[in-house]
Amino acid sequence: MQNAEIARALETIATLMELKDETYYRVLGYRRAAESVIALGRPVREVEDLKELPHVGGTIAGVIRDLAEDRTPEILADLLEEIPAGLVKVTRLPGVGPRTAGRLWRELGITDVEALVELEEGRLAALKGFGKKSEERILRAARTYNSQERRMLLDEATALAEHMLQFVRSHPACERAEIAGSLRRQKETIGDLDLVTASDDQESLADAFAEAQFVDEVLAHGPTKVFIKAGGVEVDLRIVAPEAFGTLLHHFTGGQAHNIALRERAVKMGLNISEYGLAQDSRLGLDYIPPELREDTGEISAAETGELPMLVEVGDVRGDLHVHTNYSDGRGTIETMAEAAISLGYEYLVFCDHSQSLRVANGLSPARLEEKLEAVRAADGKYGEIHLLCGSEVDILKDGSLDYEDTLLAELDFVVASIHTSFNVGEEAMTERIVRAMNNPYVRTIAHPTGRLLNRRDPYAVDVSRLIREAKATNTALELNAYPDRLDLSVPYVREAVEAGVSITIDTDAHDETALGFAKFGVAQARRAWVEKESVINCLPWTKFEEYLKSGK
Ligand SMILES: [Zn+2]
Ligand SMILES: [Zn+2]
Repeated sequence: MQNAEIARALETIATLMELKDETYYRVLGYRRAAESVIALGRPVREVEDLKELPHVGGTIAGVIRDLAEDRTPEILADLLEEIPAGLVKVTRLPGVGPRTAGRLWRELGITDVEALVELEEGRLAALKGFGKKSEERILRAARTYNSQERRMLLDEATALAEHMLQFVRSHPACERAEIAGSLRRQKETIGDLDLVTASDDQESLADAFAEAQFVDEVLAHGPTKVFIKAGGVEVDLRIVAPEAFGTLLHHFTGGQAHNIALRERAVKMGLNISEYGLAQDSRLGLDYIPPELREDTGEISAAETGELPMLVEVGDVRGDLHVHTNYSDGRGTIETMAEAAISLGYEYLVFCDHSQSLRVANGLSPARLEEKLEAVRAADGKYGEIHLLCGSEVDILKDGSLDYEDTLLAELDFVVASIHTSFNVGEEAMTERIVRAMNNPYVRTIAHPTGRLLNRRDPYAVDVSRLIREAKATNTALELNAYPDRLDLSVPYVREAVEAGVSITIDTDAHDETALGFAKFGVAQARRAWVEKESVINCLPWTKFEEYLKSGK
């Protein structure tokens, strides 16, 4: 074992001891020993007497020796025997930790995250030192932890699926191939991948797919269906004769509720249906329903009456209103970001670096912001193809005031306001705080309005419906942040906002040049929310956008 692995094993021992409610000092001994191993600077194997290491006594020295020589130390073996393996995951839930997990185990018989999810309501709250609030928090953490484990972000899922699609398409027996399933519907996170392909020689295509280099494990392999594991996810490939392709693609695109509703409609119309036999929408008397809308949330009746929205498209986006540069925590310069935006065909780009109080992100002091303002103006003069504007992503402070004086904000072309600190102020205070920022005359949009990070952080508590009403009242937009781990606002709220007449901005929050391409994920979520381009500020052509800037709020 290398030092890092040894340190991790020592940490594990400490965690397991804590689960067992061992004394604080014994646990601390292992934690400190782990730190000493990390700080050592040469392989443990080269140390003659391990007791020379800080915080390492005779017992722990023996444990480290065992680990270095690839033996399982007795203490670890005993702990692993005694403590259910699933409990370690419970200790990783936000706000739980080993001591609490140990109590859940001893007092409620909880042995893994699943058991916690299924725990009867009120039992946790009844434990000494817990209460309704902590029960709620822990159960929510358990539920999101479970769903997190299986979900891929849209950019990873797209890259993996495209890679496999290229493989299938390049096979001589492939006539057509498409991504299906939740990825074709562009759901915000993806569980597994579905590919649908048409071929006259199904078997040879199936065999080739099962033997492809990217396959980690073949789960099932028949002449028309191959089910594999690749890149940590399950992938389902279906192969049909070319004439059945459209029907199959439709079926495997889903969503389930949409398919059921369509099937009911077909039955009512007296059509004969089966998995491979359901005809295209047109035979059901419906307009074509874009995949992003197929969730049975009103799209079928709208397709019937010709009232489907004209959904916004990637090509409608004319600029990005929220990107970072190396003035704060971005990696690109004003110039490299501008050139990347030009290659996307954008007419304008707004640089919004962080404001002064966000020191971890190298936020700009007023003086540095003035300096940057001049640099952006100078760069703007260099490019004929694009308008470069200087804004700021200004922090909304704990009391709802902004991180720069209004006199400075007034000099900027565009102001994005957002929350990066003090997330746990409670729903009412958080809502008030953001509403106060919306009432500032210079704030044009609220960036990532709920602060969630997919797979990592829940949204903070905030009354989004009230934000939507206040956005309307103050003529402030709400951002649909296109960064794949944010996609914030989420789809139901975007739909609510747009229905209430609120404009949205679809921004990438790019911190480097390639991230400017994330706009497509934001547009996909906007489409899922039934958004037309008229609701999106950065779909305005430059002249209209310029008018919007000049007219103020
Ligand atoms: Zn931000
Ligand atoms: Zn940002």
